[in-house]
Amino acid sequence: MSQSDRPLEVACPQCRKKVVWREDNPYRPFCSERCRLIDLGAWADGSRRIAGEPAMDETEIDEMILRAERGFQEPE
Ligand SMILES: [Zn+2]
Repeated sequence: MSQSDRPLEVACPQCRKKVVWREDNPYRPFCSERCRLIDLGAWADGSRRIAGEPAMDETEIDEMILRAERGFQEPE
């Protein structure tokens, strides 16, 4: 009965930071909610960029997080 005590690490798809893959990390494979929202937002509005392209600026990110926290209540 050998227990694996080496956590699986992945690179955050957004910022490339090392993230420990844990069941209790709701943002996996991202390092944080912010990175997760950036990625979701990029897919959602069709402006997904190739890795290495400059990310959107801080203001856009903050607005996106605010919208997400309100639950994306946009009319269909
Ligand atoms: Zn990240």
